[in-house]
Amino acid sequence: MTQVVNPASGVVVGEVPATSVEEVDGAVGRAERAFEVWRGVGPGERARVLRRFAAVVDAHLEELAELEVRNSGHTIGNARWEAGNVRDVLDYYAGAPERLTGRQIPVPGGLDVTFHEPLGVVGVIVPWNFPMPIAAWGFAPALAAGNTVLLKPAELTPLTALRLAELGREAGLPDDVFTVLPGRGDVVGERFVTHPAVRKVCFTGSTEVGTRIMAGCAAQVKRVTLELGGKSANVVFADADLAKAAATAPYAVFDNAGQDCCARSRILVQRPVYDRFLELLEPAVRGFRVEDPALESAEMGPLISAGQRDRVGGYVDGAKVAFTGSCPEGPGFWYAPTVLLADSPADRHWREEVFGPVVSVLPFDDEADAIRLANDTEYGLSGSIWTRDVGRAIRVARAVEAGNLSVNSHSSVRYWTPFGGMKRSGLGRELGPDALHAFTDVKNVFIATEE
Ligand code: NAD
Repeated sequence: MTQVVNPASGVVVGEVPATSVEEVDGAVGRAERAFEVWRGVGPGERARVLRRFAAVVDAHLEELAELEVRNSGHTIGNARWEAGNVRDVLDYYAGAPERLTGRQIPVPGGLDVTFHEPLGVVGVIVPWNFPMPIAAWGFAPALAAGNTVLLKPAELTPLTALRLAELGREAGLPDDVFTVLPGRGDVVGERFVTHPAVRKVCFTGSTEVGTRIMAGCAAQVKRVTLELGGKSANVVFADADLAKAAATAPYAVFDNAGQDCCARSRILVQRPVYDRFLELLEPAVRGFRVEDPALESAEMGPLISAGQRDRVGGYVDGAKVAFTGSCPEGPGFWYAPTVLLADSPADRHWREEVFGPVVSVLPFDDEADAIRLANDTEYGLSGSIWTRDVGRAIRVARAVEAGNLSVNSHSSVRYWTPFGGMKRSGLGRELGPDALHAFTDVKNVFIATEE
């Protein structure tokens, strides 16, 4: 059994079994058999079951949100959004079974048609930072396309995933179509990679583990989607709405206590407005409400664990601190929002993913300099561009090597638009209209019409 801890208090809130390799193998066998049933369920009925699943999640939204607050320390506002996101992703992909059309391609001597065939058993591996949405981004399109799903939540945050599996059953998913297997990454996750009947691994987590998973999957030419780390830039040009850029910058990095792969953790500010931007940023950071995440007013809760707090602190030790916000004292894994001034792009806190409420600021000279600095990273997940010049916004958005960019805003995730990383931030895209095809293989069939 593994103990699950409330990060806001350090108190144990539950115990969850750790699935063994033998138990994973049993679950894979059952999911393989369930696949034969699920793939045969007609598109209309599969859509109905997914819509019911969305409705049941909606009916339990508050319960799921409160569970996430206790297990992950997310603010109640964020946790409600996250549970709502599961509902929306299920609803969105519920529209897919009836629209999963192939093509008819002109050929001589017959009829040529394509089918999007489900893959079989899909293994979804989820990190601890957004347990509910990231799980749904994998399981909803996978189920919609006719696959069966085994889902491994992170060791620290299994509770909402286990509850979602129960809600799926309540909504009418047949036995063994969607199974949650809590346990260790190097046991359960690893078995998804090595078991030949798992036909695809959908992984979200660190670039280090993702790289190993990709190498493991290569041995079986297993399909893989990777959503990995990030070190995204928030580029503020001198002509931007500076007040708005400064007021919103803390939310773009301190949301979820900075434990967000899309965190805009590098702020690049054009030199003429650098000092003014910092002046405007300071009150926004000092005013950021870090408190008991169960309070409606909370804007940020604790970090996930004591280990994560130590890791984050390691980046701040010895760095140049511009100013910090505040956080509660006492039990729980608290860390105050912190703004660091980078001396150069070589600084460790500028280069590495901190995954905590720490942001680094660096000035730049011109557009070319901004693009060069933004791209001077192995990652390429997201980023923001603040300018009133439309041409520049488009030029810079095209030049920054990242999968998700926003102009004069910090948005990156909408369930109906594609999400994913360039470079070492990942492989493949989740969400949006195309994600479905990541859970199918195209089959081409030629039917001779000549006598
Ligand atoms: P992690 O890589 O340590 O763990 C992620 C998951 O993989 C966990 O469920 C873990 O148990 C499992 N795992 C660990 N070792 C494994 C192995 N050998 N084989 C199979 N599975 C294994 O990452 P984490 O610390 O939980 O999450 C933080 C990371 O996730 C950050 O780097 C963050 O940027 C990234 N992330 C990326 C996205 C994205 O969409 N790009 C979203 C959220 C988080």
